[in-house]
Amino acid sequence: MDSLDPVLAAARPIITLDGVTKAYGNGTVALRDVNLSVGRAEFVSLLGPSGCGKSTLLRLIAGLGEVSQGRIGWPDGAERARNLGFVFQEPTLMPWATVFDNVYLPLKLQHLSRGEATPRVMAALAQVGLENFARAYPRELSGGMKMRVSIARGLITNPSVLLMDEPFAALDEITRFRLNDDLLSMWAGQNWTVIFVTHSVYESVYLSNRIIVMGARPGRITDDIQITEPYPRGEDFRLTSAYNDYCRHVSAALHATMEGA
Ligand code: ADP
Repeated sequence: MDSLDPVLAAARPIITLDGVTKAYGNGTVALRDVNLSVGRAEFVSLLGPSGCGKSTLLRLIAGLGEVSQGRIGWPDGAERARNLGFVFQEPTLMPWATVFDNVYLPLKLQHLSRGEATPRVMAALAQVGLENFARAYPRELSGGMKMRVSIARGLITNPSVLLMDEPFAALDEITRFRLNDDLLSMWAGQNWTVIFVTHSVYESVYLSNRIIVMGARPGRITDDIQITEPYPRGEDFRLTSAYNDYCRHVSAALHATMEGA
């Protein structure tokens, strides 16, 4: 995939947030006046310190909770319930069920029979390189493999928007780098929009075409940085001066936000 044209992407928003504020029942204002337009097929990272409202923002987009003020819109009319995949930091697999059954679950909830679902489940497992592990149980898998199962389960409904909440934070660096690459190649082959929560500057620059930097108390957007380097990006990208320049720039933006808080 070539580098995304940010102008084109912005011209075709799939999700818009207008003045979104979220106050929890205990009085915590997790987000204040967040305005954001995410374009189709963008890879957007939400980057910020703990407690700045990244997960809250992701959950609101997922429809898990109501905004207190403002509005979240889906301009092309996409029915979000049908078009969203969600991958959490913990793989949250059912320990008593096989890899196949864990990935089948979202389709089962849509009342698809096992027979109808099998080709799709196997295709999703192939996409994450686990086609030979359909009958394995989660306890037999490494941390990286469990996360791959979780990604396959997130993709099984063929979502147009994939929401990922620090999916690789608990993995060792080599596994994390490998999954970064796998995720990018899956993204390049599809037309997904990815919204990816992380607190790693390096991961956000490597993956994203756009980084939304957030600050805390209350949670808000402080910077919106385009990473205009082309895709595909491989391990060599991590060694380029462009990558390092972006990391420095994003890191400075993050520090400025944290110092200002
Ligand atoms: P992040 O993902 O950036 O770490 P969160 O969205 O989890 O931030 O949290 C933002 C703020 O909202 C924090 O102060 C957190 O304590 C608070 N918060 C999150 N969830 C709840 C909740 N269910 N009830 C009350 N406060 C919450």
